Amino acid sequence: MENFIVSARKYRPATFDTVVGQNSITSTLKNAIKNNILAQAFLFCGPRGIGKTTCARIMAKTINCQNLSENIEACNKCESCTSFNNAASFNIHELDAASNNSVEDIRNLVEQVRIPPQVGKYKVYIIDEVHMLSSNAFNAFLKTLEEPPPYAKFILATTEKHKIIPTILSRCQIFDFKRIGVEDIANHLKFVAQNEHIEAETDALHIIAQKADGALRDALSIFDQLVSFSSANITYKNVIDNLNILDYDYYFKIVDATLKNDITNSLLILNDIFENGFDGQHFIIGLAEHLRNLLVCKDKATLSLLEVGENIKSRYAEQAKQADIMFLIKGLEIINHCDIEYRGSNNKRLRLELSLMQMCSLKSGALHPQSEPIIIPPQKKTENQSTKSIVSEPIPKPLTNEPQAVSQPTIVNEPKTVPVKDPEPKPVQKKTGPRMPGSISIKGNINKVEEEASTYKSTIHTLPDTDFTQEDLETQWSNYLSSEADQTPSFVNALRKYTPILKDNYLVEFKTDNKVIANDRQNINKVQAYLKEHLQNQKLSLQSVITLKEENNTAYTDEEKFDEMKKKNPALQDLKDQLDLEIEF
Ligand SMILES: [Zn+2]
Repeated sequence: MENFIVSARKYRPATFDTVVGQNSITSTLKNAIKNNILAQAFLFCGPRGIGKTTCARIMAKTINCQNLSENIEACNKCESCTSFNNAASFNIHELDAASNNSVEDIRNLVEQVRIPPQVGKYKVYIIDEVHMLSSNAFNAFLKTLEEPPPYAKFILATTEKHKIIPTILSRCQIFDFKRIGVEDIANHLKFVAQNEHIEAETDALHIIAQKADGALRDALSIFDQLVSFSSANITYKNVIDNLNILDYDYYFKIVDATLKNDITNSLLILNDIFENGFDGQHFIIGLAEHLRNLLVCKDKATLSLLEVGENIKSRYAEQAKQADIMFLIKGLEIINHCDIEYRGSNNKRLRLELSLMQMCSLKSGALHPQSEPIIIPPQKKTENQSTKSIVSEPIPKPLTNEPQAVSQPTIVNEPKTVPVKDPEPKPVQKKTGPRMPGSISIKGNINKVEEEASTYKSTIHTLPDTDFTQEDLETQWSNYLSSEADQTPSFVNALRKYTPILKDNYLVEFKTDNKVIANDRQNINKVQAYLKEHLQNQKLSLQSVITLKEENNTAYTDEEKFDEMKKKNPALQDLKDQLDLEIEF
């Protein structure tokens, strides 16, 4: 093991036939070589790690081979092939445009194109990540690409085809590389494992292949990591643990639970997933994938779309038998909806739990309304309460292991789709009995709403209503003023001027000559609340009365002075009117 060479390099394909998962491209290239109809320039497009550069190198080696096999493969023995294999060939030039994208870099390359090959027929220029070239570099390159010498071949590779300018596209033969299938990658890993004498479970290799998402290079480097972690024995378990992948097991268990209407267990499994540090969104995507896989199992024709290992395939087949197609489609709808709303949800966990509860309710009756009688209790309320809503009850909080904490779903669905477990309508007053886990009861919720309403009413009725006297009022009034003096001094000072008066029906009046104080509803309400509480009377209400200014008020403004003078001598008004005088303010 100490001489373990990174598989991605060691098992890089050396011939067209060993390229993984790109059969149509390799056979097209072989045909072109065979019929000697090679284009001047090629553009290899597709995601990273799927064999673009590898194919370009094989191509360069093959067209230079002096001893081509009948199968159009390089011999790997001739002078040209050995220099290629030792990375010593002068006929191949690679430029990584991601780091060498200046005009200068391209000029150097163009310079080299002028020199014909000393050995072999072709000089091959591979430009990786060609979309990264600066526009000046592109222009400098264009001339060469238009009229290249016959011995020069260009292979451009890119992950972003849309960034390539049309003038380049039109001069290239384009090949679109596709993501490599999980099965192909898994088989290749199996081949590598066998060659390296590494024990590896098929399911484990499938998980690696899935994680690599179509990129063989990634799959090989994950494989290498795992080999060093697991000392040459790759099991499903250690792949799951090391790659932090949500185990298939979780999905099988959760679907089992939803099929049995088992809300309790499905929420507990979800809790387990959260506790293991997995992301909710990740789980949603995985669950949707799982349902899709079950759906695919339903038909032999689509069975090939199931990209999993053999052992897991049989588990899928088993579970697919228990879930009918409508359950799977509805379940996918629910999960898809959850996926859309999850990110924006304020309570993400609840959003996900709700979806699981909905899935739990699918099997029992929603899909087979005829198989289970749905009886809505004959109370009038049911009609009003039957809107599709969630009656808010304490959310199943961070789940504990007590099942009752989570076994009380409070979804009120449309009555049509709600399975009511007990066919005999019971009086509304009866407490809901022990419910089947996962069943949904309208009656329970109605009871609850009614209980809450009656408690609320009774609270209102039992509010105190004690009699009190003018004296009591004055005592509490001054208590309030002294307690509040620091908080609202101006308001308190204004109130100090007058004594409140108790009127009929517990109306309390207080007088003020200040309009601002009289209309300060916020502070008045505060006083009122204080009095209500301390006099134990909820009917008490406080009202302000604005008084006129007192007679001996000093006149300040000119207008006030005029009024004062007028009172003493009414003729002044006549004088003012006849002379059409105005008071200056
Ligand atoms: Zn050769």
